[in-house]
Amino acid sequence: MSNKKPNILLIYTGGTIGMVKDIETGTLHAFNFKNLLKQIPELNLLDCEIETMSFETPIDSSNMNPTNWVQIAEIIESYYTKFDGFVVLHGSDTMSYTASALSFMLENLAKPVVFTGAQLPIGDLRTDAKENLITSIQIASLQNENNKPVIQEVCLYFEYKLYRGNRSTKINAEHFQAFNSLNYPCLAESGVHLKINHQYLLKPQSGTPLIVHKKLDSNIALLKLFPGITRSYVDSVLSTSNLKAVILETYGSGNCTTEKWFVDALKNAITNGIHIINVTQCVGGGVNMGQYETSSHLKAIGVISGKDMTTESAITKLMYLLGKPISNKLLKSKFETALRGEIA
Ligand code: ASP
Repeated sequence: MSNKKPNILLIYTGGTIGMVKDIETGTLHAFNFKNLLKQIPELNLLDCEIETMSFETPIDSSNMNPTNWVQIAEIIESYYTKFDGFVVLHGSDTMSYTASALSFMLENLAKPVVFTGAQLPIGDLRTDAKENLITSIQIASLQNENNKPVIQEVCLYFEYKLYRGNRSTKINAEHFQAFNSLNYPCLAESGVHLKINHQYLLKPQSGTPLIVHKKLDSNIALLKLFPGITRSYVDSVLSTSNLKAVILETYGSGNCTTEKWFVDALKNAITNGIHIINVTQCVGGGVNMGQYETSSHLKAIGVISGKDMTTESAITKLMYLLGKPISNKLLKSKFETALRGEIA
């Protein structure tokens, strides 16, 4: 075992975690990450070296977009050989989208990329930011006896739990436990001991070089069904210009209305080369087209099954696959197959 301490790159993109309160005015402003070690002296107790980097203008994660995802991927690509692990500080609102996107963009990832954030600013007395930050760095620096990283995938750490990034979803705007992963067990739990659930970790093939995919296509739509949805609304979504794919958020195990106008509209879209993907509105469980009559018509017309994927994962996987020059048939088969552990 070498004596070299793992080195971790901490990338601050924005969000509550990096805010401090001005004691006099009470307003929140971005924390100066250059002074991180000075402001959080506990970090000196960690058995790793930490370097920090920040977005030039930190952003609220509601402003995150695919261009920013590419920015994060490029930072990781540039420093991939220099660092043993990466911790990305990110607003919690769209963290699951970014973590999902990065999981698809970073093919053959063999180092940890841990997303974290906080519900309360790091400068707040009752903050959850310190624990989230410290444990994320600890997780990113875990190595086995051959000095190989224990975690080799994109994940998200929040309130004592490490989730696979593309299985996570924000479930609460108030509680410290803001995330969950209902269709996949957590990868690690932090209590008195840090318990790693090794059996659930992704194990990439060793020796395969990192490939960073930067072409994402956002010409997609998300259509959440509700009882009473009108034909004009559905038609207007399906006639969006340059539309390449629609994610349908259906009921239960992938069910939707059998009304003729609705089925015909989908059939017509598919004939015109638009991919239709079925994911469930439920936070747990997945799509099983054909289980009920109210979903067998979708299967019959060629709707793609999102199985037990989160909507965040379905959206970002679609952008990633549409960015590739692949046939419609191959896109369907890739969408229904696990690429990064995102689907059963
Ligand atoms: N609105 C903030 C963001 O997502 C909330 C947070 O950081 O948790 O950037």
